[in-house]
Amino acid sequence: MKKSAAILAMKCPRCHEGDLFTNHSAFPLRSLHKMPEHCKGCGLKFTPEPGFYTGAMYVSYAINIGLFITTFFVVYIGLKVEVISFLMIYGITLLLLSPFLFRYSRTLFLYLFYSYEPLAKQDYLKSLQLYKPISTTTVAV
Ligand SMILES: [Zn+2]
Repeated sequence: MKKSAAILAMKCPRCHEGDLFTNHSAFPLRSLHKMPEHCKGCGLKFTPEPGFYTGAMYVSYAINIGLFITTFFVVYIGLKVEVISFLMIYGITLLLLSPFLFRYSRTLFLYLFYSYEPLAKQDYLKSLQLYKPISTTTVAV
């Protein structure tokens, strides 16, 4: 899977297979932020340190600036509406997109710190086999 497709699908940055969020849908909003502790594909810890996703608000801020500029050119310049109408349209657009912006800002923030490793899944599965508990067998006497 390409990196851009993995970001759009909100997949793990290291293996592009595991889901970043527990629910595929952003709804219900109550479980919007829930992420598995580790990637099911490669074992990457999705919260490397406490408060890690505080930095995602800067990504969210940048996305919001882009949304504002886009809305400004399309609605205010393109459709030539009043300032109050433009602000209302921007506010409604922002309100409707906020669950997705929240998730994509977390996704993009995680992608800033991890790169794709094609062998990550294979290495993870090997490590699971290495630490597999030894099965207890009874010896017949
Ligand atoms: Zn992974």
